[in-house]
Amino acid sequence: MASGYRSGVPDDWYVDPVRLGIPGIRPAIVDEDNPLAWQTDALCAQTDPEAFFPEKGGSTRDAKKICTSCEVRSECLEYALANDERFGIWGGLSERERRKLRRRAV
Ligand code: SF4
Repeated sequence: MASGYRSGVPDDWYVDPVRLGIPGIRPAIVDEDNPLAWQTDALCAQTDPEAFFPEKGGSTRDAKKICTSCEVRSECLEYALANDERFGIWGGLSERERRKLRRRAV
């Protein structure tokens, strides 16, 4: 990977059903300090995470479509911007779209 481009789902991107609960089945262990607590309601956690971290040039359409119905879209986007997440779809925006948004905010 000469370009430094990373593909695939990162190791720290997941919803642990024990800690974060399963919607309608297991309540979350509420941990106010967990910066990823909003993932309890993440729609992508119920789908294929690979769609949110496509290979370079891969389609992001399906992932973005899921994000439009996600209740924690703004929390997700805020988290990605605050943590400078470089890869994947977060809050319905691609890496490039988040970069643009960040530039506009400056
Ligand atoms: S906005 Fe999209 S990426 Fe973020 S939690 Fe929801 S479905 Fe997942």
